Amino acid sequence: MKNILTVDVEDWYHICDIEHILPPSQWDQCESRILVNIEKILSLLGRFRVKATFFVLGYVAQKTPEVLNMIHGEGHEIASHGYGHVQVYKQNPEAFLQDLLRSKALMERMIGQTVIGYRAPEWSICGAPQLTPQFPQILQQAEPVEAEPSSIELRRATRLMRLYPRIKTWPSAKEGKGKRDSYWALDLLAQNGFLYDSSIAPLRFIGIPDAPTTPYTLSTSHGEIREFPPLVMGSPLGNIPIGGGWGLRIFPYRTIRGAIERKNRKGQPALIFCHPTDFDPSPPEMNLPWIKRFVCRGKIKTMEERLARLLSDFEFASISEFMFKESGRDF
Ligand SMILES: [Zn+2]
Repeated sequence: MKNILTVDVEDWYHICDIEHILPPSQWDQCESRILVNIEKILSLLGRFRVKATFFVLGYVAQKTPEVLNMIHGEGHEIASHGYGHVQVYKQNPEAFLQDLLRSKALMERMIGQTVIGYRAPEWSICGAPQLTPQFPQILQQAEPVEAEPSSIELRRATRLMRLYPRIKTWPSAKEGKGKRDSYWALDLLAQNGFLYDSSIAPLRFIGIPDAPTTPYTLSTSHGEIREFPPLVMGSPLGNIPIGGGWGLRIFPYRTIRGAIERKNRKGQPALIFCHPTDFDPSPPEMNLPWIKRFVCRGKIKTMEERLARLLSDFEFASISEFMFKESGRDF
């Protein structure tokens, strides 16, 4: 059973909601750490002969084209992470489209291939799906995630889940609070040639809490689009993010392994995601609020070893490879 491995290709300072600490106008002056960290990921994937999907930020592709060329040269899939790393719900449809097409055109020119996949910064396609009446039906079909964590893990998760809302309530995030409707973005993705998206997290604070936890198809006014959610673990508190970020770093390895095994037993793939910074033991210092520091940097030393264990215990593929196997169509 093939699982899905994805990497968001962005540098250590591409963190949402820190404009008051580091405005995008200062990105050009920041030290670039991406090359050395991407090399670590590529060498790990090379060792295990795994191809992954790399959601490349347009800004990174433009500033350090060698990074994109290196990933593409090793046969991995290139997809888009947008250009300027702004959450979708903070943009209007015109700005989103401009950002999306800028990154798509840039990367297609560089690799000479069509880009068919998109991931929004911080899983920011969310909001009420009024535009697509099919969505509630899909939710009904989705099977509930069973709660199987042990009591210790549940206690740990409870503590983390209580902390989590604070990430979204510190002052700089206020502009993104309130109405978080960005579901319209799926129409624009389908209209502009994207065959899949991986931007809807089945999570309470950053996504659509009841969204399906396995790949599913959504209908838009411009045709269907396949959605690839990240691995989560069900619990009475709601889904816990363990497929990437702090959840992947903080929970014991056997918890992550158990969650993937349970999914695979049901014939479902687990989607794992990581970032180059996760592999950087000493990224440059930044004056982040402590909770953001924990979310972005907590326990980073374990990531290289953790990914190696995942690669040795499970089989992984890129999203386009998975879709090809699923449908028998070449992408
Ligand atoms: Zn990102």
